[in-house]
Amino acid sequence: MKTAIYPGSFDPPTLGHLDILERAARLFDHVVVGIGVNSSKSSFLPHDARIEALKACAVRWPNVEVESFEGLLVDYARRREAQAIVRGLRAVSDFDYEFQISIANRRLAPEIDTVLLMTKWEYSYISSSIVREIAKLGGDFEQFVAPEVAAIVRAHLSLTT
Ligand code: ADP
Repeated sequence: MKTAIYPGSFDPPTLGHLDILERAARLFDHVVVGIGVNSSKSSFLPHDARIEALKACAVRWPNVEVESFEGLLVDYARRREAQAIVRGLRAVSDFDYEFQISIANRRLAPEIDTVLLMTKWEYSYISSSIVREIAKLGGDFEQFVAPEVAAIVRAHLSLTT
């Protein structure tokens, strides 16, 4: 049984994230989306809303599970008995950071491999931060996210504005 962790903040989850998740779900028997709890970073969507959004999207893949995690990623991956950590690459600019983190993670946990999946080119410009900005400023953010996510973002915006 090959298990992979797909970690991230997913604030909010975008079509780019879902594309990586779909491909990871084809490559691995079991994929656990780990939404990092970061108390020092203020988020746009509350943690629970991000979990709800990803769970709503993940129903389409029977081998995908969504949960939160705290602490060091490699400790979490070990707890979940994962062989791999999946991350997405959009452009060369993502590579430096992902490469650095993956080397550090390998030093900490040599038995866990990082698998970097390249995004589809049509999603290569989408980032959670762009979606957040467009949503906050009243623009059409819905084209960058799944309908389930759009509904949760809309509900959040109506509560906060
Ligand atoms: P983090 O804060 O850990 O970087 P993110 O939620 O921003 O979390 O991203 C999680 C993972 O998804 C990262 O590997 C990131 O490169 C990848 N990712 C983000 N947006 C896209 C996209 N449009 N296409 C493919 N991968 C993406």
